[in-house]
Amino acid sequence: MAATVTPHIAGNPATLTARQRELIALASRLGRDRFAPRAARWDREAAFPTENFADLRDAGLLGICVPAAQGGLGADFATYVMVAAELGRHCGSTALSYNMHVCSTMWSGFIADALDMNAAQRADHNRIRALHYARIIDEGRIYSQPFSEGGAAAAGKAPWGTRALKVDGGYRVTGRKIFASLSGAADYYGVLCTLERRSADPGDGGTLHDSLYLAVPAGAPGVVISGDWDPLGMRGTVSRTLSFDDVFVPDEARLMPEGLYWQAAARYPHMFATLSPTYMGIAQAAQDFTVSYLRGEVPGMPPVKRRMYPTKQIAVAQMRVMLEQTRALFLQTAREAGVDPDRDARMRLYAAHYTIMENANAICALAVRTCGGQSMLKSLPLERLYRDSRCGSLMLPWTAELCIDRLGRECLYEAGESDEAIDA
Ligand SMILES: Cc1cc2nc3c(=O)[nH]c(=O)nc-3n(C[C@H](O)[C@H](O)[C@H](O)COP(=O)(O)OP(=O)(O)OC[C@H]3O[C@@H](n4cnc5c(N)ncnc54)[C@H](O)[C@@H]3O)c2cc1C
Repeated sequence: MAATVTPHIAGNPATLTARQRELIALASRLGRDRFAPRAARWDREAAFPTENFADLRDAGLLGICVPAAQGGLGADFATYVMVAAELGRHCGSTALSYNMHVCSTMWSGFIADALDMNAAQRADHNRIRALHYARIIDEGRIYSQPFSEGGAAAAGKAPWGTRALKVDGGYRVTGRKIFASLSGAADYYGVLCTLERRSADPGDGGTLHDSLYLAVPAGAPGVVISGDWDPLGMRGTVSRTLSFDDVFVPDEARLMPEGLYWQAAARYPHMFATLSPTYMGIAQAAQDFTVSYLRGEVPGMPPVKRRMYPTKQIAVAQMRVMLEQTRALFLQTAREAGVDPDRDARMRLYAAHYTIMENANAICALAVRTCGGQSMLKSLPLERLYRDSRCGSLMLPWTAELCIDRLGRECLYEAGESDEAIDA
């Protein structure tokens, strides 16, 4: 019996550039041959996929968004998210952790390039990021992105509670980040903080505040990892708590110039849409599994076919419809990434992110119901996909609730509009 040919993660590969096809094929080979066979182990042990990161390093993929001039692969947004989705198809924890690393290079890379800086800031940023990129390309160092604090900051509704005080030659960082994926595994933690600078102007109350994005070395004195990690899903991300107790970092720890993060957050919303590709991959994996299960082709299972029952055909068709709806929005918004998207594109992005996160879980739930009891066994990947898929819409800054919240408001209010202004 001929095994099924599974769909390309980007739908029709003829719509891709040769470079995109090549990088997705690389991710596919790594995922299929190395990551998928190891995925159950990271999940069972709630352990970081160290071997997978060694493979990503050897393949040059740690530098996927590092500019080619600096030794990286120079991938743009669309290329990266398609590669990430393909990785998510084989191991969700690896793809999600990989995203935290890649964001450090993407935010400091082509996103920073698209933003306004004066000439001195840009020159300084180019000098500093070259140091970070050299660590990644030459030394294989891994970065992460602890962002969440448990308050309103990660939702963009309050300043970061983690503080960076400007001192001679650098900053002193104090604070706490929760759910810090790659804790204990990353070499540098890319921490978002509130910058405090002494001001001589009495109008400032003695202190100026701004945003700051710093790479804190994992081994710096004052960095402490704490807490348990035994979650429902995405167990290989090892997202424990990180504390920073008056940690000194030099000026060269900056991943963006002082204050630039707020400009990025306001003008480049796609920067927050890089978590969902992992879940696009999980949704595809649930469909792939269901088809091969119903065809009696799952390795290690008796070759019992279940495809002839109309109920199975309807369910798998429903899954495919949802999957293609999800993929269409995923691809469209991937290709729209850029600075200052118009209001429509921004709303489409919230809708896409919401759809991917929610549909991934809905497709996995339908896959479990359709494949039945045996598919829930730990010896098969579906129950892990189901658990992993549950995590996506909980992730800040764009949880499913917050996407709906923003979308609803932006559908009904023009920029700057308020009910008071209308009523007046
Ligand atoms: C597997 C996994 C890996 C993760 N990795 C990382 C990581 O590497 N780095 C990182 O920074 N974070 C990471 N996170 C954290 C994640 O983004 C959330 O911050 C975390 O799940 C805590 O969320 P919470 O539900 O406790 O947040 P809460 O702040 O308690 O929010 C609860 C819910 O309330 C809603 N809500 C929150 N704030 C507002 C608001 N202002 N207005 C309206 N509604 C609001 C949201 O819908 C949210 O889901 C990870 C999470 C998971 C599950």
